[in-house]
Amino acid sequence: MRQSQLLSKTRKEAPKDEVSRNAELLIRAGFIHKEMAGVYSFLPLGLRVLNKVNGVIREEMNAIGGQEILLAALQDRELWEKTGRWDDAVVDNWFKTKLKSGAELGLGFTHEEPLTALMKNHIRSFRDLPLYPYQIQTKFRNETRAKSGIMRGREFLMKDLYSFSRDEKEHSLFYEKAKLAYMNVFDKVGIGETTYITSASGGTFSKYSDEFQTITEAGEDTIYVCEGCKIAINDEVLESKKACGNCQSSDLKKKKSVEVGNIFNLGVRFSEALNLAYLDEEGKEKFVVMGSYGLGPTRLIGTIAEVLSDKEGLVWPKRVAPFDIHLVEIGGESGEVRKVSERIYSALNSRGLEVLFDDRDLRAGEKFKDSDLIGIPLRLIISKKTLDEGLFEIKERSGGKVSKVKEGGLRDFADDYLK
Ligand code: ATP
Ligand code: MG
Repeated sequence: MRQSQLLSKTRKEAPKDEVSRNAELLIRAGFIHKEMAGVYSFLPLGLRVLNKVNGVIREEMNAIGGQEILLAALQDRELWEKTGRWDDAVVDNWFKTKLKSGAELGLGFTHEEPLTALMKNHIRSFRDLPLYPYQIQTKFRNETRAKSGIMRGREFLMKDLYSFSRDEKEHSLFYEKAKLAYMNVFDKVGIGETTYITSASGGTFSKYSDEFQTITEAGEDTIYVCEGCKIAINDEVLESKKACGNCQSSDLKKKKSVEVGNIFNLGVRFSEALNLAYLDEEGKEKFVVMGSYGLGPTRLIGTIAEVLSDKEGLVWPKRVAPFDIHLVEIGGESGEVRKVSERIYSALNSRGLEVLFDDRDLRAGEKFKDSDLIGIPLRLIISKKTLDEGLFEIKERSGGKVSKVKEGGLRDFADDYLK
């Protein structure tokens, strides 16, 4: 894509009321637009990242047997009354609305109720189980504080998978697989090293839960990390545990963190309330054992921005970067530079590499500043100087390493780096 045609422009300042670093950077670099506190729209660069993050999540969910669906956002009050979750005194972050008739509806903040009810049409016997439907869908939550940019939206994307199993044993097998799949997601999007599986209380919702917490000063949570075992305990459960669940060490390090994912064992809490049962091998009726598995793609992008950026701007990991290569042409008004830039741009494109071509008529300093802010993994500079040398300069955004490469070697260099 040619940067001269990109609809977003970079800007020097973020909106005055934006206090989070992730949203400030993403707005300045032209990835997102702030509509109001906790509500952000995605622009072309941001949407490219979001689609890649969702791609990684789909890959991992499909690999453990997930089947993608898309549920409605509007919620039927009666269903939520059956499980006791309609009342604002029980769930304090509902957005509710009304039909013209006056009947109340909710905007989904999660989907256990409608999906459990829906599955009654598809689960009859033990042969129909297990099932693992998931969706990537917009959720609405009337969050009290929305000061963490896209890490805490009032409207945000969630990947929510729900497991429907015959019994606790079958449930546990899947639950452990899901844990590994979640860690694969965090590895692939570049935050695996700073993300910890964290024991947490399930609250009123579930018997127990595991959170996935990424260490960052921008986080709103506090966890206690066992560095040897690479696991952690949420501060809510520290009271009862006080030691690492694996090695029993009480040498735990206190860290600020953000919850990027959360998985729950729901038991029969929802299947019982909504009467989702099946007939087992002996023809006996049993309630389906459920689990839920949440992960926030938009929160994940905010977290990547917080954890990996530097003072110059965003630094995207290869798998989720909006483009692979930022081709920065300097002095394109000289016909020769333009000619070579165009030639290299089409050669890289035809190799399947994703290139953002900065063909704008701007000073070199401004172009480099924008390039640092946007944070594409490789920057390729084409200028009079590089043409004279017969070598092109490629700079890695992460770490800043510079290599000089001949025109014929550019595609292989990029392929190798991006592998
Ligand atoms: P938190 O404790 O941070 O409020 P939660 O425990 O209410 O989150 P869950 O209901 O477990 O969150 O939601 C599943 C996932 O959805 C979270 O792990 C997170 O990645 C994402 N998520 C939850 N709330 C938000 C939000 N307001 N904005 C963006 N992502 C969110
Ligand atoms: Mg949580």
